[in-house]
Amino acid sequence: MTPKIFKLHLHKLQNCPFISTLRYYFGNRRSETLFNRFILSFTSLNSHLFQHNLVPDPSCDCGLTSETPEHYFLACPRYNQQRIKLIGHLSQIQDLVNLPFKQIRNCYNKLLTYIIDNPKTASPAAQHIQVYIEESKRFEVT
Ligand SMILES: [Zn+2]
Repeated sequence: MTPKIFKLHLHKLQNCPFISTLRYYFGNRRSETLFNRFILSFTSLNSHLFQHNLVPDPSCDCGLTSETPEHYFLACPRYNQQRIKLIGHLSQIQDLVNLPFKQIRNCYNKLLTYIIDNPKTASPAAQHIQVYIEESKRFEVT
């Protein structure tokens, strides 16, 4: 996918009322952008790139499995330190503790759905996820 096609894709999404109300104004612009790409399922993780025929293999560099968002956030051994910190922060957020699903560490999709559905009350969680993304350095351009 070229940058031009990507911009067209985003432009179409901006016309969608659901997406246009979904904005997070905290953190720096780069981490905010990366976070919103997760919401759009449009990151540069190998699983997403593979879906768009941009890489030949969806595998993670750790060699364990496909580099999906779930693997990136919940299982990849390359980010264990960042994950411990993230889970520690998320487990202190009262809104999340009171949710029907208590196993946040095993429910990436539910957590993300909660953040999307409750952008104001879930912003502390979104901030910690942005920190995770930033500190993992997975999306740094070398
Ligand atoms: Zn991995």
